[in-house]
Amino acid sequence: MMKQTMPVEGKFELMTLPYAPDALEPIISANTLAFHHGKHLAAYVNNLNAALPGSGLEGKALEEVVLNAQGGMLNNAGQILNHNLYFSQFMAPKADNAPTGRLAQAINEEFGSFEDFKKTFAGAGATLFGSGWVWLSADANGNLRISQEPNAANPIQHGLRPLLTMDVWEHAYYPDYQNRRPDHLAALWQIIDWDVVAARYEEE
Ligand code: MN
Repeated sequence: MMKQTMPVEGKFELMTLPYAPDALEPIISANTLAFHHGKHLAAYVNNLNAALPGSGLEGKALEEVVLNAQGGMLNNAGQILNHNLYFSQFMAPKADNAPTGRLAQAINEEFGSFEDFKKTFAGAGATLFGSGWVWLSADANGNLRISQEPNAANPIQHGLRPLLTMDVWEHAYYPDYQNRRPDHLAALWQIIDWDVVAARYEEE
């Protein structure tokens, strides 16, 4: 069971970034982060909060809203969940950044090696047509899988536990990388906080 995100007095809150606005530079610029978190994610939060009253989903965890809402409400809730997972998995750039422990072992078992995993994952991100997200998730038995999700979809909608994600909506990379989505995805490996990803894997 992944951690549940609860509303406070009936409203979901814009997550606080666990690092300084310029901490992810030059991979994600402070400017991109300011728009992505402070404008895009904030709009999804405001839109969902406006739609909650009378929906029957008031007071439910964000994950429950994603599993039960439809239409625009599902899109906004999905984008909040996706972005919360996305923004909380980063840290300042580090060369030779790689997972360790049980997660590293699971990656090696499923994909052959960390290098092969990165190739498959980034390939899934590069070939996802239009807007969406690429995910590493765990199934109920702890087996890993990579999936492409369109628009605002999240692996919890398929009974999977999301561990790691890359946002391939243009707003995530266009200011820094323009049309070079694969270059952006390749650079993101330097700022993945594998301790966060491993903790999600251990949650069960
Ligand atoms: Mn985004």
